[in-house]
Amino acid sequence: MICSTNPATGAELARYDEHSDAHVELTLNAAAQAQRQWACRDIASRAAILPAIARLLRERREQYARLITLEMGKPLAEAQGEIEKCAWTCDHYAQHGPAYLANTPVSSNASDSYIAYDPLGVVLAIMPWNYPFWQFIRFLAPALVAGNGAILKHANNVPQCALALQQLMLDAGVPAGLVGVLLIDAGRVKAVIEDERIAAVTLTGSTAVGKLVAAQAGGVLKKQVLELGGSDPFIVLADADITTAAKTAVKARFGNTGQSCISSKRFIVEASVADAFVAAFTAATRELVMGDPLLPQTTIGPLARPSLVSDLHSQVERSVAAGASVLTGGAPVFGAGCFYPPTILDHVTPQMAVASEETFGPVAAVIRVQDAEQAIALANATEFGLGAALWSGDIARAHRLARQIEAGAVFINGLVASDARLPFGGIKQSGYGRELGAAGAREFTNTKTIWVG
Ligand code: NDP
Repeated sequence: MICSTNPATGAELARYDEHSDAHVELTLNAAAQAQRQWACRDIASRAAILPAIARLLRERREQYARLITLEMGKPLAEAQGEIEKCAWTCDHYAQHGPAYLANTPVSSNASDSYIAYDPLGVVLAIMPWNYPFWQFIRFLAPALVAGNGAILKHANNVPQCALALQQLMLDAGVPAGLVGVLLIDAGRVKAVIEDERIAAVTLTGSTAVGKLVAAQAGGVLKKQVLELGGSDPFIVLADADITTAAKTAVKARFGNTGQSCISSKRFIVEASVADAFVAAFTAATRELVMGDPLLPQTTIGPLARPSLVSDLHSQVERSVAAGASVLTGGAPVFGAGCFYPPTILDHVTPQMAVASEETFGPVAAVIRVQDAEQAIALANATEFGLGAALWSGDIARAHRLARQIEAGAVFINGLVASDARLPFGGIKQSGYGRELGAAGAREFTNTKTIWVG
């Protein structure tokens, strides 16, 4: 049984029987058949489906945003922003997808040689609940332009979003079956990965599940893209604009109620400006409003599941026991909803739980350092390598330091965010492969050499 539960109230919203093996079989068959025909269409006609998806996303923004908020708890304005971003990304790939995937001439000793990007087939997308529309659409938009089909296995706490995405595709005119949805337990995913009708796998989720899925897909030699956890540093150097950095820090840590892989989680601050940064960061954090995520004034909703609250609080308790000081927040709110207040811990050391483990909720760890060199060393002292923010008034130095940071992206004087125009992904335990940009469009293609004598 797959249940949709409102994390703000604990009330059950809907429940579904898992799809049977016969249904899985039909879904895989339909996707394989539809993809073969889809791949035969020219790229301009494939790209032309995306504006229809974008239009429906915009028309149904309120309906979808409300659904997201009800199922996983993010504040409604953020859910509306998520739908807008999905629509914009569809527009982006409609316009630029064909160029990203156009034949690339290469001079060689042939009379003509070039690179062509052919589709791989049907891609299994295992997706998380934290951006239930965005995570899937950012994979799907370029995948469709490239000529692939998709099967979505969504997180089981957002089944209504999964079904809404499937209906959206049909309503937009995507051929029946090309985008399938499976409501199945995680234990049944391995058989789908191994099925010959699945060509490749993309997973956004935890590092632990990433390793499992990588082993399963590797066992049958199928390509994977893995977008996993992160513990992004937010480095504030002594010459930074402290006011802007502190304001941005609030968005960077508490957006999506802290449940984002690219949230800044470790605030690494040079000692000479640490008091000023911490004071401004704490003051701005105290202005956040926790409550019913459907209300317009709410900026902090519930976490998506009860276990996220207990895991997060355990990390806070262990860090405080090890010597961290609580500047604001620090304890869960007891009641029916999964609420945890925005929390800042100061005087964190790299060994403490909030610095050494990923914190998937509204908890910021402030680590004070002596200089930029120590800041970079600590930024890299993590198993993760997704994003990083670097704040400095010296842009030339910031460029040099950015190259020393072990991450898939470094944002200088800005908020780390995904953007359809730029590649997104990690290194180390944050995974491999890229989404978005031209690199993302080419991940699920066969980079084919054509050579003419
Ligand atoms: P999980 O890794 O548990 O779940 C992610 C997806 O994987 C869900 O669809 C889940 O399904 C599925 N899954 C779980 N177990 C298996 C399995 N054994 N085989 C196949 N699929 C499986 O993540 P959480 O729900 O705990 O989400 C939070 C984590 O995801 C955090 O660590 C976070 O950093 C990471 N994440 C990374 C992002 C990125 O872009 N890099 C973005 C968002 C989150 P089911 O719900 O049925 O268990």
